[in-house]
Amino acid sequence: LSDTPDEFSLIAELFAPLARGYPGALGLIDDAALVAEQPGTEIVVTVDAMVAGVHFLPTDAADLVARKLVRVNLSDLAAKGARPFAVLLAAAFPHGTGRAWLEAFAAGLGADLQEFGIALIGGDTVATPGPLTLSLTAMGRVEAGNALLRSGAKAGDELWMSGTLGDGALGLLAAQGLLTTVDAEAVDYLADCYRLPRPRVTLGPSLVGLANAAMDVSDGLAQDLEHLCRASGLGAIVETTALPLSPAARQAIDADQSQLARALTGGDDYEILFTVPPGAADTLHRLAGESAVPLTLIGRMVQGSAVTLLDEAGRPIAVGQGGWRHFSTHGSGAGT
Ligand code: ADP
Ligand code: MG
Repeated sequence: LSDTPDEFSLIAELFAPLARGYPGALGLIDDAALVAEQPGTEIVVTVDAMVAGVHFLPTDAADLVARKLVRVNLSDLAAKGARPFAVLLAAAFPHGTGRAWLEAFAAGLGADLQEFGIALIGGDTVATPGPLTLSLTAMGRVEAGNALLRSGAKAGDELWMSGTLGDGALGLLAAQGLLTTVDAEAVDYLADCYRLPRPRVTLGPSLVGLANAAMDVSDGLAQDLEHLCRASGLGAIVETTALPLSPAARQAIDADQSQLARALTGGDDYEILFTVPPGAADTLHRLAGESAVPLTLIGRMVQGSAVTLLDEAGRPIAVGQGGWRHFSTHGSGAGT
């Protein structure tokens, strides 16, 4: 037979150490985990699934797959202002997955759980005839009533985002060897952004009490901003010239303008998009320094429901399947 460990030795040998002494994990030998209440706080829970060939490349290294799985979930918690403390893993490993792969996966998982100070407190392990499918549930805490929501934006709020835009989407191209217009250093930088997102775990909680609304940008700024607008019952205006780009993304866009549409509509940014009342810029610049994450003012929230992207001349533009185009008809918005 193959060197595939059975479910029980897999849990005992590779996963139980990742409980990292969390008491309620019960050593991963019981039916469920116990999470203690902390008065005055709420538990924020999120889950994200990743499928080989859909959310990561089947050839991606096992440790990086595990770390990305952790990070995409921590990004959701950060966007709610929550501090993470535990995760649960549901894993469907393809039949015959070898011990070396599983060990590397557990090592990557352990590295990130340690880095972010969280514990694996439970999960489920099954075998599948299909592609590797992973689901991680992440739990965090936030002061009761203070979670950052998509629905809290006010007309007149400034719209800010953390980090840079499009590195993940351009990074997918780079990782596939399809980004030939930039130098090798930029290819490496972008591919790394795609494979190993940096969730804004310090920034998120520090936005509590400051931001009126926040969300994780994971499906492309253009689309995600529409979701924030809908939840808040508002529209937004974005100055595309203000959008923060990494030097590598800038290189790709300078070489091929159509990549700007990819940066705006592609996924895998894992940045925080948030709104603040005017006057918070000084505080935000201080926070940017403290969390070592750039923060950029990209637009504002307005009455209505339209999300309008303005070009360098202040003309509205739309981002569609075919890339950028100027509005030629009424009634269509971004993402059409
Ligand atoms: P059940 O019979 O209830 O499905 P299991 O035998 O699957 O229980 O799980 C036994 C213990 O191992 C439980 O504490 C469960 O949370 C834990 N566990 C199983 N799979 C994983 C996993 N992939 N990651 C973390 N813990 C796991
Ligand atoms: Mg089970």
